[in-house]
Amino acid sequence: MSFKIELDHIGIATPSLEGNSFFKLLGLGDAGTEEVVTEKVKVGFFDTDNSARIELLKPTSEDSPIAKFMDKRGPGIHHICFRVQGIEDIAKRLKEAGVQLINEEPRMGAHHCKVVFIHPKSTGGVLVELSEKVSHE
Ligand code: ZN
Repeated sequence: MSFKIELDHIGIATPSLEGNSFFKLLGLGDAGTEEVVTEKVKVGFFDTDNSARIELLKPTSEDSPIAKFMDKRGPGIHHICFRVQGIEDIAKRLKEAGVQLINEEPRMGAHHCKVVFIHPKSTGGVLVELSEKVSHE
């Protein structure tokens, strides 16, 4: 069975995208920003030389999940994301194995991707995102 999985990005909760110039200073490529209205966040992307990126997440509203996260735990690593193929099948398989999914049906995230979030209780303490690129129509 060949199954392809890659580390796609690490999501970091931050109070300010502009205030965080560290990753640029370090030498990562500034890959722009995108607002994800459904998640109430503005996202800043930084590229490394493999496919893995840094994703800075700034809440756009006080009831954003990222705002709630920072209220509880402060800024810092919020989630890690794996790029997968066949996200529906994987979500089903995990659910059947007793893994706690936050959304059982994949939903649209940034960059034309279908995403599923997995509860930290089921992963050893970190929120895990699975993401599959949807081809442009
Ligand atoms: Zn993410």
